[in-house]
Amino acid sequence: MVEHQIKARGIKNDMVLEAVRRIPRHLFVPSESLDSAYSDKPLPIGHGQTISQPYMVAVMTEALELEGGEKVLEVGTGSGYQAAVLAEIAGRVVTTERVSELAEEARRKLRDLGYTNIEVIVTDGSAGFPERAPYDGIIVTAGAPEIPRVLVDQLADGGRLVIPVGNSYQQTLTRLRRSGEEHVTERLEGCVFVPLIGEHGWAEHGEGDRR
Ligand code: SAM
Repeated sequence: MVEHQIKARGIKNDMVLEAVRRIPRHLFVPSESLDSAYSDKPLPIGHGQTISQPYMVAVMTEALELEGGEKVLEVGTGSGYQAAVLAEIAGRVVTTERVSELAEEARRKLRDLGYTNIEVIVTDGSAGFPERAPYDGIIVTAGAPEIPRVLVDQLADGGRLVIPVGNSYQQTLTRLRRSGEEHVTERLEGCVFVPLIGEHGWAEHGEGDRR
């Protein structure tokens, strides 16, 4: 998976490649998808949600430009796989999930794997998690209609926010870098994510309606 789907498609950061190599992805997918655990696609994890494609996990992690030891916020715990990848590099990971059953399952798996630097919180992560701010990196693993200002405010000076922005069918992976009160935004590549649902995302019913 790492050689053919991730390295071959341009991911160069050794810490990211090593993190993805170390984590047993099959432990994060439902038993009926075990055969596809290392294939190049997102997989259903229940509640209408998905574990992201391995390549996209690597792209987003690389885009955060972690060097090791940082405090990172993830919005959208899902299976917990991306949180594990982050926790291999960062010092501390705070991950938020709005579906409590998914959060509970992810918390159990991450604990069983021995991660002590990941905190799983059930909340509307579209508003971030100000209790632990500021963050060196924020990664949103669901598609947002626009960059929530409230997330930018929770970035440390020099911090990076990586987020898919677009409509509910396709988005552009976007990186925002904060520098004091200024910020610079870059468009990285096209992507498709389930919607970020919440106060600073999409309305719960009738996806596509902006809040
Ligand atoms: N990072 C996950 C993984 O590694 O399995 C994949 C995440 S899945 C593509 C998107 C997740 O975002 C879903 O679990 C969904 O419930 C969650 N989500 C959507 N809106 C959210 C919100 N406002 N706050 C927290 N989680 C949210």
